[in-house]
Amino acid sequence: MTDVWAVVTNAPRGGVRYDHVSVEPPDDADLILKPLYTGICGTDRGIVSGSLPFSYNPRGYNFLVLGHESVCTVVESKNERFVKGDIVVPVVRRPGGCVNCRIGRPDNCSDGDKHEAGITGLHGFMRTEFAEKSEFVVPVKNRTIGRLAVLTEPLKNVVKAFEVFEIISKRSVYHKQDSTLTGKTCCVIGTGAEAFLYGLVAKSLGFNVILTNRHPVTDYKTKMLESFDLEFINYSEDFDRSFSSGIDLLIDTSGDPGTILKFTKRLNYNGIAILFGTNGRAKPSTITGIDIDYIVERNITLAGSVDAAKVHYYRALDYLEEWSFTIPEIGNMITGEYDPNNVKIFTQKGPGEIKSIIRWGNAP
Ligand code: NAP
Ligand code: ZN
Repeated sequence: MTDVWAVVTNAPRGGVRYDHVSVEPPDDADLILKPLYTGICGTDRGIVSGSLPFSYNPRGYNFLVLGHESVCTVVESKNERFVKGDIVVPVVRRPGGCVNCRIGRPDNCSDGDKHEAGITGLHGFMRTEFAEKSEFVVPVKNRTIGRLAVLTEPLKNVVKAFEVFEIISKRSVYHKQDSTLTGKTCCVIGTGAEAFLYGLVAKSLGFNVILTNRHPVTDYKTKMLESFDLEFINYSEDFDRSFSSGIDLLIDTSGDPGTILKFTKRLNYNGIAILFGTNGRAKPSTITGIDIDYIVERNITLAGSVDAAKVHYYRALDYLEEWSFTIPEIGNMITGEYDPNNVKIFTQKGPGEIKSIIRWGNAP
């Protein structure tokens, strides 16, 4: 058993405290890691508020250590590929026994028998140190990325979703006549951290990108959107005119059924909608026969996308490295840095929050 200080909850009931706990290291762990930074997202807050019934404690524990977004330093290594001082990002999902899990794609698990650190049956990364198997970490080769690497985990979800998009888009000619996506419109519903990352990746692929929400955004977010060259539309004010020429790729980060349907009915022929956001408490919405007809007649695809595989973490790190040069403002996505014992941040978003992070004692 290892004694550590950790941010813990009791899943799925919820609650949050910074506490001294004992945790059994996994069999065959060959690394000891200390977190530098851990990110906080809607999933952590959903677990803490008790609104994610799928979350559960690891077997034999009456608590769950939170945290699935992190960047860590290696403090001990029994593996020749890693040395003390290396920077790594641990992966969230751990494989079960199904065929997809066994080929390195637990993100596409086909029987649900996988575990997710800090979410389902496996302790997370918000603790002063933890033992880890090196097969479940991705090295951060370029140390100059620094604390931006804490965005690797949320960004890897986006990388996978674009892989899903790419596969679906092959069923017909999707690109423009000049072979590029330039001029195609990608609309992202929501203006949170994931929406910003979706916007950046879509932009880098050549899409004309619009982020949208039902209310205006703060001046801070407006400036961020400008520096990322992303357009914003408050759809409560300006829906009909703004989306009159149609959407080619719709990404939803709101999980709101009524809003998803409203925007789905702006998709062009062969349009694709990637459903990413989840909100079990969202208001229900009605879908009519005319709505179904719209989707069928235009060959519209609605696809869910969850989590990502190790390969997507590598690609996410490539993006972060590139953006740290091409869009230095990317660091402003981190809007607040908190101490681990300041657990209020799990029940209330930080002021003007895009991404709030916890800084652990080991951060430079
Ligand atoms: P977030 O900051 O809470 O983002 C959600 C965004 O949706 C917010 O900007 C919110 O706006 C907006 N929104 C809510 N209802 C809306 C509506 N009716 N119309 C337009 N916008 C609306 O969370 P995040 O960290 O970016 O994550 C986004 C979503 O993805 C969450 O639902 C999260 O649980 C989910 N998620 C999914 C995966 C996956 O693998 N599929 C992985 C991570 C996260 P306001 O807050 O400004 O109202
Ligand atoms: Zn599986």
